[in-house]
Amino acid sequence: MPNDPQAQNNPFAMPQGARKSSLDAPVTSLSRVGPKLAQKLARLGLNKVSDLLFHLPLRYEDRTQLTAIGALSPDARATICGHIQLAEIITARRRSLLVRVSDDTGHIDLCFFHFSNAQKDGLKSGVRIFCHGATRRGRYGLEIIHPEYQLLGPREAVPLETHLNPVYPTTEGLSQPVLRRLCAQALRHANAGQLDDWLGGTATALALPSLLEALHLAHEPTPTQDTHALLAGTHRAIKRLALEELVAHHLSHQAIRTSLDARQAPVLPVSNTLTERLTEAFTFPLTGAQSRVAAEIADDLSRPRPMYRLVQGDVGSGKTVVAALAIAQAVAEGHQAAVMAPTELLAEQHWRNLFAWFDPLNIRVVPLGGRQGAKQKRDVLAALASGEAGVAVGTHALFQDNVQFCSLALAVIDEQHRFGVHQRLALLSKSGGESDSPHQLIMTATPIPRTLAMTACAHLDVSSIDELPPGRQPVDTAVVPDRRRDVLVQRVAKACADGQQAYWVCPLVDESEALEAQAAEDTANALAEALPDLRIGLVHGRIKSAERDAIMSTFRDGGLDLLVATTVIEVGVDVPNAALMIIENAERMGLAQLHQLRGRVGRGVRKSHCVLLYHPPLSRQARARLQVMRETNDGFAIAAKDLQLRGPGEVLGTRQTGEVSLRIADLARDEDLVEDALSIADTLAPDAATALIQRWVGTAIGYGEVG
Ligand code: ADP
Ligand code: MG
Repeated sequence: MPNDPQAQNNPFAMPQGARKSSLDAPVTSLSRVGPKLAQKLARLGLNKVSDLLFHLPLRYEDRTQLTAIGALSPDARATICGHIQLAEIITARRRSLLVRVSDDTGHIDLCFFHFSNAQKDGLKSGVRIFCHGATRRGRYGLEIIHPEYQLLGPREAVPLETHLNPVYPTTEGLSQPVLRRLCAQALRHANAGQLDDWLGGTATALALPSLLEALHLAHEPTPTQDTHALLAGTHRAIKRLALEELVAHHLSHQAIRTSLDARQAPVLPVSNTLTERLTEAFTFPLTGAQSRVAAEIADDLSRPRPMYRLVQGDVGSGKTVVAALAIAQAVAEGHQAAVMAPTELLAEQHWRNLFAWFDPLNIRVVPLGGRQGAKQKRDVLAALASGEAGVAVGTHALFQDNVQFCSLALAVIDEQHRFGVHQRLALLSKSGGESDSPHQLIMTATPIPRTLAMTACAHLDVSSIDELPPGRQPVDTAVVPDRRRDVLVQRVAKACADGQQAYWVCPLVDESEALEAQAAEDTANALAEALPDLRIGLVHGRIKSAERDAIMSTFRDGGLDLLVATTVIEVGVDVPNAALMIIENAERMGLAQLHQLRGRVGRGVRKSHCVLLYHPPLSRQARARLQVMRETNDGFAIAAKDLQLRGPGEVLGTRQTGEVSLRIADLARDEDLVEDALSIADTLAPDAATALIQRWVGTAIGYGEVG
């Protein structure tokens, strides 16, 4: 690659002139850490000494106070001090060493199943002992199995801790005492002035502790600290650390963007006859939001550096139209465009739309998918390589190595959250022409939480289509138990007698497409029996796409009254006369899916209705979901609620969140830090920025994967 950004300002390299801190050294620089121990630490992601600082406790144990032995209760952690009354080996069932300890208030047994001779010799009657462990009811009263202990001289002070003891997440073969010792060592390096606090003054202004203070609070809080807040991440110490981590991730994505900006993309003039002809072909005027976003994209495309733009817009907001305009701008100059969808069905739908728009303009639009025959695929590949085809539409099949473009100028990616960032960036290498990189347009109906936007999408510009085409009416939604199914069947009869059309959506069957198809067929038969006067059609995933298309078109043209369907109609049908939708077993579906499905009605002039049938009893989550559907039609509100109910990991797919491997910050919890993190990132000196990226992100996001 002629413009290798790796050679230039690589922000993942150490800043020039930065001091060498002992915290940047590998863990093996710590005393008694050899390659074996280092390997175990690496399993926890602990490679550098500083990583230990950000490895936070799972919980805390209080060893700051003694409990009188007589006051102990079972199943609690206790710290005690007393004298050994007797010590003997018991051989009943399992050989063990029993050590009875007493103070003025009572006695308790310590029990060891594994012990060395030296240990046994030390634990003699009359010796003073200090120990900590978990109590339980034993055969002769309370006992502690394998306590941590220390023998004390007669006058020696009891070595009580002054702070709470951390218990860390660990891995097999790595004991708490070892991990505790290492974290404490790392803290000592930090105490010794090895830790740069790049957020210093800003954090103080936000009433947050210094970095060093925050680390002490997190690793070794005093008993008066609010440990619940520490563990829940609401404590200002954790907020301080999370803030820094968010800043670091944001900076790393800005750095990625800087390197991407060094690439060349084809310059595509804004005004061209193809865009004009396409606009004339639309049967409707663009909404204000569509025009604004289309103009932003058009401007990006006219520049020599690649566009990376994310377009968010609710279901039905008209993202496809905006994408089509961008495609026109790309192919007008003789370049090509590729549209990638997450499923075959969505790809088919896009292909059909784009074919209808571009074929009359003499632009060849070709599908590329897994279901294609070998001959057709060869033909499509040849047309893309020669440049004869202007637009390719497909699934991830577009990524495959045998797909060669003549001159790819624009990649449109629908529903990006189902694709990994890396997968998307792989398209960059496909341009084929003279430029380094095609422009990228990413479309999503799921609003990205702001924490995720700043940590995973900060290299993207964002546009919002925040307006629906005119005439869309909110859909009235009712939630009804399935014992009232018969009433709904009559309601369908009445609506259809009035000249309306309706959808009946059959339940999800997780186990197999075949079972789901069977269930849909059963439903269709039952409805046909109950409603003999209606013309009923059936579509499901097992029906061949050509046949399915034919049924859908018949429905669209008014040749069917009722369409019984599985969730395959989630996408792709636009029938304004359909104003009633019944969804069976709605309690099994997720919010995003329900919203998509319901988006199929409410497209005409008539008031539309959606009935969510459920099978009682409802779980709390399901009840909350159905409640949201009844209360709002706003896709952003629904998505926000979805995030709240399920958490971002679930909503966005594990791959996406897997890429943002945050150690301390939490995408759902830390939204309140976003504003401050952004302004801090803007004001940091370049050296500080580089050092922060090093500290928190390191080489986790490597340049190789971007290029
Ligand atoms: P999205 O992908 O954002 O969910 P689509 O692009 O599929 O939405 O558009 C949904 C429907 O709205 C399509 O039938 C489309 O033709 C129609 N549509 C798009 N823009 C407009 C507009 N400005 N006025 C009227 N209808 C529109
Ligand atoms: Mg769409």
